[in-house]
Amino acid sequence: METVHLSRTGEDIIVPKIFCLGKNYAKHAAEMKSDVPGKPIVFMKPSSAIVHNDAKIKVPTITQDLHHETEVFFVIGKSGKNIRKEDARPYLAAMGIGLDLTLRDIQTELRDKGNPWLISKGFDGSAPISNAVPVEGVDFNSLELRLSVNDKLRQQGSYKNTIFKIEEVIAFISDLFTLERGDLVFTGTPEGVAQLSSGDRLHAELVGYVSLDVEIV
Ligand code: ZN
Repeated sequence: METVHLSRTGEDIIVPKIFCLGKNYAKHAAEMKSDVPGKPIVFMKPSSAIVHNDAKIKVPTITQDLHHETEVFFVIGKSGKNIRKEDARPYLAAMGIGLDLTLRDIQTELRDKGNPWLISKGFDGSAPISNAVPVEGVDFNSLELRLSVNDKLRQQGSYKNTIFKIEEVIAFISDLFTLERGDLVFTGTPEGVAQLSSGDRLHAELVGYVSLDVEIV
């Protein structure tokens, strides 16, 4: 299984599973012509979707419309189940910046037919992640994220604009799934998602903390 690198200890820990949130920023829901969800929209990527800094990511042959979604992710530090929102924070070990790469044409086609969208979001290379930095003392509402493609700013967002906060998401997910050490939770993308092409160089930042560089080939 793939791993996430914890900068504080230098450990590479196994990622058992990856949870992602759909439409967790109102302006992104609007650009997708969707309503804001009443409860978290949760989906998963397999651990094999992970790639790290400096990865070269191949565009799957099935798509004509690979999109970037830039997202803050959290790393679960200890196992738990039925965690209350008020008790969630100690389960978070670290945070980083990730990309939820999406085959938008395939996703739309699958969703319109009511079929699972797994292949549009779970393919190899669909989850580039930075190293993860400790969350101790961090006010999550101060987190800012950014993506440049070929040195041009494409996405900029503030975690404080998420609809469902990570503590609430932990409570929601852990009611259904056992959280395990190393699980990742991607917290959704702000607006500005757009198409990528071969040759694009992506630079994503959790501003002031950590960054991620990958290339589409
Ligand atoms: Zn996403």
